[in-house]
Amino acid sequence: MKISVIGTGYVGLVSGACFAQMGNTVTCVDIDSNKIQKLEEGIIPIYEPGLEEMVIDNYKSGTLSFTTHAKEAIAKSKIAFIAVGTPMGQDGSADLQYVLSVAKTIGESMEDYLIIVDKSTVPVGTADKVRDTIQKALDIRAVDFKFDVVSNPEFLKEGAAIADFMHELYAPFMKTRDRFIAMDIKSAEMTKYTANAMLATKISFMNEIANICERVGADVNQVRNGIGSDSRIGYSFIYPGCGYGGSCFPKDVQALAKTAKDFGYTPKILDAVEAVNYAQKKVMSNKVIAYFGENLKDKTFAIWGLAFKPETDDMREASSITIISELTKRGAKIVAYDPKAKEEAQNHYLKDNSSVSYADSKYETLKDADALILVTEWQEFRSPDFDEIKKLLKTPIFFDGRNQFNKERMNEIGFEYFQIGV
Ligand code: NAD
Repeated sequence: MKISVIGTGYVGLVSGACFAQMGNTVTCVDIDSNKIQKLEEGIIPIYEPGLEEMVIDNYKSGTLSFTTHAKEAIAKSKIAFIAVGTPMGQDGSADLQYVLSVAKTIGESMEDYLIIVDKSTVPVGTADKVRDTIQKALDIRAVDFKFDVVSNPEFLKEGAAIADFMHELYAPFMKTRDRFIAMDIKSAEMTKYTANAMLATKISFMNEIANICERVGADVNQVRNGIGSDSRIGYSFIYPGCGYGGSCFPKDVQALAKTAKDFGYTPKILDAVEAVNYAQKKVMSNKVIAYFGENLKDKTFAIWGLAFKPETDDMREASSITIISELTKRGAKIVAYDPKAKEEAQNHYLKDNSSVSYADSKYETLKDADALILVTEWQEFRSPDFDEIKKLLKTPIFFDGRNQFNKERMNEIGFEYFQIGV
């Protein structure tokens, strides 16, 4: 089947590559000509395990192509996927300008019956707006092509996007239909926000519990073990840390809260989830400041991990940005290492922060640093050589924003070790 995917970011590129892998002929469209040119040269703009090979193989075999010409791609397609960004607007609502601009282009370009699938995360009622926008453009052309708009919100997780897409969602649907759930369009739109808001709520709830544990002398790691053993609760998404980031949770929680308010309901839980997360991003830097004092002029800190989570180079809303800014504005120097996000940091998110330098390995960050701060739980940080860390650091002080290690053991080895919620 001929498919076009409009918007070639995390969602669009993964979806496009996976559709091509399944035997479809896919055109990925983007307005960013630089991105399209790079893709045509085999340079993949994002890091996602397994993606590069899949893109290159399908590009070479002709099942996957890239273009900035949306009109041609849409005119040839049977299905057009909308996978553009829906960033947070000034008032917290989802900014629909990109989705609606694509809808207009679709109306201006389609040459036959077309199915339009919205994969972007959009507030309830957006499918109606997409439909109206397409119809208006068709009316201007005075043509009468029929079309249907479907909402198929994307549930992939960055870092495991290909596995999610191929194994959990579409492949089983082809075979067993187990994971294929059809519902009305507003409920589909609402389902995506509800899923993300629920996961964000679990994280903020656990972070709040961690902050209480710390004050009353309890250990949140033990509390987590205890409650997770209850099958009604389970272990997933109850890890305390330095706050959630990424392209989805922060904006989706706020967009859902805004939608609720627009419809006359004040969402108390959603507002609290966001407020807890905002404060949580500063918990680690506050611990560093409590230890070293407000003036950090002569201090250097090693940072392990910049991406908002492991297995991705995505730094959107990453806790590392807040932690680094809180420390450098007090005069600290930062030496950071991340297996994949260095370029994102250097070229974009930390571009203007001259107090940050980058190392090519985790141990290289430590030389003469006053303390180590672990921010993203990449696998390569799971069992580091503690003797080497101690040898390289000026003083063996370790702030662990992901509670990776056992406090007593770390103290035995000779570290001053700080966690969240202990
Ligand atoms: P992204 O920013 O990585 O990619 C969006 C792309 O769309 C960009 O390359 C941009 O240049 C392009 N674009 C914008 N306007 C365009 C237009 N008019 N025509 C063609 N291209 C255009 O975004 P993303 O992370 O892929 O997210 C896309 C949507 O999917 C969002 O609504 C997001 O909330 C949702 N989502 C994302 C994830 C995730 O893990 N990243 C997961 C589930 C859902």
